[in-house]
Amino acid sequence: METVCKIVDSNVNSQLNYTQAVDILNAGEVVAFPTETVYGLGAVATNDYAVKKIFEAKGRPSDNPLIVHIGTKEEVELYIENIPEVAMKCMDLFWPGPLTLVMPVKPNVLAKSVTAGLNTVGIRMPDHPVALALLHHIKKPLAAPSANRSGKPSPTEAIHVKDDLQGYIPYILDGGSTGIGLESTVLDVTHEPPVILRPGGITKEMLEEAIGPVIQPTTIEQHMESTPKAPGMKYTHYAPNAPVYLIHCDKKKVEQAIQQLHSQGHKVALLAPESFVNISVDYYFSIGVAANKEEMGAALYHALRACDKTQATLILATTTSTEGVGAAIMNRLEKAAGGKWYIT
Ligand code: AMP
Ligand code: MG
Repeated sequence: METVCKIVDSNVNSQLNYTQAVDILNAGEVVAFPTETVYGLGAVATNDYAVKKIFEAKGRPSDNPLIVHIGTKEEVELYIENIPEVAMKCMDLFWPGPLTLVMPVKPNVLAKSVTAGLNTVGIRMPDHPVALALLHHIKKPLAAPSANRSGKPSPTEAIHVKDDLQGYIPYILDGGSTGIGLESTVLDVTHEPPVILRPGGITKEMLEEAIGPVIQPTTIEQHMESTPKAPGMKYTHYAPNAPVYLIHCDKKKVEQAIQQLHSQGHKVALLAPESFVNISVDYYFSIGVAANKEEMGAALYHALRACDKTQATLILATTTSTEGVGAAIMNRLEKAAGGKWYIT
């Protein structure tokens, strides 16, 4: 299959690209588009045949449900049975934005494969001009997971989508780099108090200020039977080709680790804050200023993907505190590393 990639901006020609994207989606095909979090791979969420194509193109397990994207807040009522009070508050405060709300789904209004057989659905209104323009043009909900092959880091640029899905999908809308660079926060409001199934750009601190206590399970707690789960959590995620190891953000420790690894014949890639720039390592990818978690979040997937363009045999990634967006960064890093730590 030929994959066409079209730039969309404020230029008049962009209108034609939106029209093409809408025609392709209405014909039951998939289209990749930018959101403020990462690039999504969209299909009309009421068309089961189209939604199945997302799973095929990504190689995504069919028991991992998809997030439904809508263009206006009012549409929620079409798909959700009883909208909880806390969800109303969250929508008012954080939509459009990087917050997915898991709520009870109305029967038979969305394609079966969207919800992977659950009686809930994750829904959000994205805050990106291209995503919103596409949704306003098509006037239908779009199911859209991240536009990467399953297991790989999410795409933050159209070129990442091409790297993963060229030949598998017909159309990409290129709207430049995404802003946040980490997937949306997934908040399950069917529990009391609500549970963060996946940390993201809307932090626990921001949510608690708005709606009171929320539970944010640690990675270990997420594996416990009693903890509510996002079905996708059991799968490998965000992983570059070479194995990733976490290491404390301590220059001496990192230098020692690199020396040890070199003596074992490894070529090492290092993902670390800007302050590590002078370190002697085979490949170094800055994730920005350590104090600026938003900047680190935005740089993370780009850096993980850049490792795949090197000859590195092992990747060291420095850790950060779990305050604010740090929780989302550590969640992705722990998954990319499969929980492995480098111990010198
Ligand atoms: P992605 O589509 O790759 O951004 O991943 C979507 C995430 O949201 C996955 O971790 C899913 O497991 C989670 N998710 C989507 N829908 C639901 C739902 N109804 N209940 C719980 N988790 C969900
Ligand atoms: Mg994903």
